[in-house]
Amino acid sequence: MSYVDEVYQMVVEKNPAQPEFHQAVKEVLESLRVVIEANEEAYKKDALLERLVTPERQLLFRVPWVDDKGQVQVNNAFRVQFNSAIGPYKGGLRLHPSVNLGIIKFLGFEQIFKNSLTGLPIGGGKGGSDFDPKGKSDREVMAFCQSFMTELNKYIGADTDVPAGDIGTGAREIGFMYGQYKRIKGVYEGVLTGKGLSYGGSLARTEATGYGLLYLTEEMLKCNGHDINGKTVVISGSGNVAIYAAQKAQQLGAKVVTVSDSTGWVYDPEGIDVALLKEVKEVKRARLTEYAAARPSAQYHEGRGVWSIKCDVALPCATQNELLIDDAKALVANGCIAVAEGANMPTTIEATEYLQANGVLFAPGKAANAGGVATSALEMSQNSERLSWTFEEVDSKLKNIMVNIFHNLDDAAKKYGMEGNYVAGANIAGFLKVADAMNAQGIV
Ligand code: NDP
Repeated sequence: MSYVDEVYQMVVEKNPAQPEFHQAVKEVLESLRVVIEANEEAYKKDALLERLVTPERQLLFRVPWVDDKGQVQVNNAFRVQFNSAIGPYKGGLRLHPSVNLGIIKFLGFEQIFKNSLTGLPIGGGKGGSDFDPKGKSDREVMAFCQSFMTELNKYIGADTDVPAGDIGTGAREIGFMYGQYKRIKGVYEGVLTGKGLSYGGSLARTEATGYGLLYLTEEMLKCNGHDINGKTVVISGSGNVAIYAAQKAQQLGAKVVTVSDSTGWVYDPEGIDVALLKEVKEVKRARLTEYAAARPSAQYHEGRGVWSIKCDVALPCATQNELLIDDAKALVANGCIAVAEGANMPTTIEATEYLQANGVLFAPGKAANAGGVATSALEMSQNSERLSWTFEEVDSKLKNIMVNIFHNLDDAAKKYGMEGNYVAGANIAGFLKVADAMNAQGIV
C-alpha cells in the first residue's frame, strides 16, 4: 500500500464517525499523491503526513448559559489548533446546530492550505459550537458568547491563535466575544478578526470573502478566454459570503439570478436586488420569503434547487456538501462554464470530478474563498501597527492576493503535469510551503 493510502486509512480508523474530515483529507491527499510519491522515503521517515493530518491541539469544552426564561442551557464547543508551522493558528468560529468535532477538523484541515495559499504568515485552526444563534434574543446570544469566551480566552492570543467569524458568527457575535476577552485579559489586542470598525476592525473585511471569490473567478475566466462581464451567475446561500459575492458580481457586469437559505431559494430573472437582500438578511434577519414578497420579479421555492437554473457561472456560498453529483450533471447540461466555491467544501468529490471531466473550470474553496482570511491577516497587521487603512487600500491588496493565488495554483498544476486542475494546484501549492516549514522546524 502506498504511503498516501496508509495515511488515509489511518485517518479513517483513528477518527471514526467524522465523514467530513475523512472527505477533506482524501481530497487533499489524492491530489498530493504525485508530490508525495516523488519524496516518499523522506516524508515517511519523518511521518510528515501523519503529523499533517493530526491536529497539534484539540480543545473541547462545555458552554453553560441562561436563556430568557431563566433556564440553563449547555452547548458543546471546540477549538482545533491544527497546524502552526507558518504562523499563529487562524480560522473562524462556526455557530450552527450541525457543528461537531469532525466538522471543525475538516474546516481546520482545509484552513492550513488556504492560509498557506494566501502567502501570509498564518497557520490553520477552526472552532465553534452547536449553539444556534437563530431565533435567540440579543441577550441570549451575548450570554452564550460571554460564556464561550470565558473558557476560550485561555487558549488564544494575538500571537498564538486568532479566531474569526464563520457561519452564524457575524459582527454581533464577534463584538460580544471581543468584549469578554478584553474584560478577562485586561488587554486590548487583535485577538479576533472581523471586529467592528470602531474597535479595531478592518474596512473591507465584511466584503472580503465574497469580493475575493469574484476577483479569483474573474482571473480564472480571463486566463481561459472568458469575460465575467455579461455572464449569468447562480449563487447559493444568502449570508455574508453570498451577499458580497452577488454585489461584486454585479459590479463586474454579471447578472446574479439566485440566492438560497436553509429553507428555500429565490429565482429572480431580473437580477438579485442586493440592497433588498441585505435589508432582509442583515437587518431583519428574516427568511427569503420576505425578499420574494417585496420583489415582484422573484419566485420563491421551498427546498433546494439553485443548480437547476441555467447559468454560465455557479458559486456555492452556503455550506459543505451542497452541490451533489446530480446538481453537477444539471450544471453541465445547462452549459455552465465555471464553478468557484465560496463556501468550504460545498461540492462533493464525485461532483467535482464530474465537473472537471466535463471541462468546467473549477476553483476549490481553499483558494477561491481565501479572501476572508487574507483580509483578516491584513486586520492583524493594522492592529499591530495601530493603523487603519482605507477601503481602497485593503480592497486593492485583497485583489492582488486573489490574483496571485490563482496564478500560484495554475503554475503548480502546470508544473506537476495537471494543467487546468486547480484542485490539485491549490493543494500542492498550499502543501509545499507548510511541508517546507515543518521540515525546517524538526520533529515537533
Ligand atoms: P452565514 O452564516 O453568513 O450564511 C450562511 C448561509 O448558508 C445562510 O444563507 C444559511 O442559511 C446557509 N446555510 C448554512 N447552513 C446551511 C445548511 N446546512 N443547509 C442549507 N443552507 C445553509 O455564513 P457565511 O456566509 O460566513 O459562510 C458561508 C460559507 O462560507 C461556509 O462554508 C463558511 O465556512 C465559508 N466561508 C466563510 C468565510 C467568511 O469570511 N465568512 C470565509 C471563508 C469561507 P440560513 O440563514 O437559513 O441558515
